[in-house]
Amino acid sequence: MMTSDKAKKILPGSTIGVLGGGQLGRMLALAGRHMGYRFVTLDPTPDAPCGQVADRQITAAYHDVTAAAILAEQCDVITYEFENVDAAVTEMLMNESYVPQGSELLYTTQHRIREKQAIEAAGVQVAPYEEIHSLAGLKEAVGRFGMPCVLKTATGGYDGKGQWVIRSEEEIEDAYETLLKAKTDLVLEKFIRFEKEISVIAARSPRGEVRAFPAAENVHVDNILHLSIVPARVDAHILQKAEQLAVRIAESMEVIGLIAVEMFLTPDGELYVNELAPRPHNSGHYTMEACKTSQFEQHIRAICNLPLGSTELMSPVVMVNVLGEHVQPVLDFLEAQEKDPEEATVKVHLYGKHEAKPKRKMGHLNVLADTTEKALSWIEQTRIWESKDSE
Ligand code: AMP
Repeated sequence: MMTSDKAKKILPGSTIGVLGGGQLGRMLALAGRHMGYRFVTLDPTPDAPCGQVADRQITAAYHDVTAAAILAEQCDVITYEFENVDAAVTEMLMNESYVPQGSELLYTTQHRIREKQAIEAAGVQVAPYEEIHSLAGLKEAVGRFGMPCVLKTATGGYDGKGQWVIRSEEEIEDAYETLLKAKTDLVLEKFIRFEKEISVIAARSPRGEVRAFPAAENVHVDNILHLSIVPARVDAHILQKAEQLAVRIAESMEVIGLIAVEMFLTPDGELYVNELAPRPHNSGHYTMEACKTSQFEQHIRAICNLPLGSTELMSPVVMVNVLGEHVQPVLDFLEAQEKDPEEATVKVHLYGKHEAKPKRKMGHLNVLADTTEKALSWIEQTRIWESKDSE
């Protein structure tokens, strides 16, 4: 898979093309600009978050091969900020441009079953699963796994969309008929009674250097990430194990760039990988101020074949997401604050999205303090996320 062409160095001054113009592309471009790179992004929404900070935005649909060809022509290297890149676009970019992350990584992570097979091939465990091809097959597998269990679409799902937790016999048919409408393969997973959800982001460069960021403890509300707490409040040997398995996955899959590894931790200390993402990840936003190198800078270093940066944590941190409904309360709170808080350093990141719809990711805060408890209590005393925290 690794060709000599992949070892090419992309030096500052070069232009990086980003497929997708959302917040991940925006923060990637902001980090890359500090390093002296130029950016062109492709996104269907005019004045997209990344387009606002890039040299140029090509406004076109993600599957528009002609527009992607223009991106290829204008850039020295191409990356992406989401994994569901259209197959025809991927093929064209692979032929016409330089995509160090390759097409295989996308092909694998676009499909839950292929992804699980790749994780298992790295010697890492996933929740027991079975491919589902019929209602009878589903009933049989539910019988074997027991309830609850989780039926998921193999492609297209995110933030809990495209999945159904089956809790009773009566739901089986409904779950099957509903998810079948997505017209994709289905997979049934055993329900893992996890104690915590954690994630590790690792980076690998074409020269084979691999580094993992400290594991984050993630708290979701309504299936959307709410908090990332670092250091995770988990035994040190488990954190080490989590970081090692992310490195093993990055090496086994010959990842170039970032790979985010989401996992479940059970009360008896077992780790099961739930999902991978071959890109910067929401649970890695804490690195922006808390680590010596941010995940965005690291991704650029990796795809450009520069030496990777230190992933050392400089301060305990809690990242809290700012959804549409939180934007105004956050702004009001900051406005009303008469002096900087003593117990925490609060860094506000807003993504420049035009419309603050409820549940839409609009920004995040990184709250740095001596301890994660102090950071959490600062978040609590703002009362902005109160109703969510008590759920
Ligand atoms: P996903 O779309 O796979 O990231 O799943 C969204 C959320 O559903 C996860 O963050 C978990 O909280 C929950 N979940 C997914 N799969 C399982 C599973 N096999 N067992 C228990 N909870 C799950």
